Amino acid sequence: MHIGRISSFQSLGTVDGPGVRYVVFMQGCNLRCKCCHNPETWDMHGGSEYTTEEVMKRVERCKSYFGKEGGVTVSGGEPLLQAKFVTRLFQLCKQSGISTCLDTSGCIINDDVKELLCYTDTVLLDYKSTNAKDYKNFCGMDMQAADDFLSLLDKMHIDTYLRQVVIKGFTDSDKNAKRLFEIASAHECVKKTELLPFRKMCVSKYDKLGIPFPLKDTEETPADVIERLYALKYK
Ligand code: SF4
Repeated sequence: MHIGRISSFQSLGTVDGPGVRYVVFMQGCNLRCKCCHNPETWDMHGGSEYTTEEVMKRVERCKSYFGKEGGVTVSGGEPLLQAKFVTRLFQLCKQSGISTCLDTSGCIINDDVKELLCYTDTVLLDYKSTNAKDYKNFCGMDMQAADDFLSLLDKMHIDTYLRQVVIKGFTDSDKNAKRLFEIASAHECVKKTELLPFRKMCVSKYDKLGIPFPLKDTEETPADVIERLYALKYK
């Protein structure tokens, strides 16, 4: 029996991969990204335990909403920390004809993760910055690890959405966006590049946890900035 530690579930998500998706937020994260929306997932001992079968029962109840494109997305937290559990869950999804999507920072490559990728249809790769120094300062992870993960996805021909949160004074420059689009076009696996506006809806979560939110004074990202950066893709 496979048991995983899960923070929460979202029945019908529309922003976590293709189509309508059942989203599982795994508990535990080894990073501390300054813009993190889910600080409640950080604690490796938080959340609640579920078996893969229990999660599948929840998924099956939503199956009729998935349509052709939708399915299950496992997010977090960092799903790679519980790779064996997610692998089993994805195997069960595949047996039921349900598509699988993994939302990750790409921080770990090991045999368990490689096995998990064999059952993953789409990866949402959270690529924090295109500058190595900023990357490390922002989340504590080496950019090289994300690059290695992206190369692995390319090698394994796994559809990838390259995602980045656009934050004022950090990732809102033309230079950064152009580099991101270059990285995307250099990898055949990348089917989409998504620029996500920085939002502060998570502030109340930080207050509740008694954790300072590092970006509390940073402005939310207006739609016109996102539009300006997307336009660079075609220049
Ligand atoms: S990897 Fe995700 S869950 Fe972990 S700190 Fe960063 S944004 Fe938060």
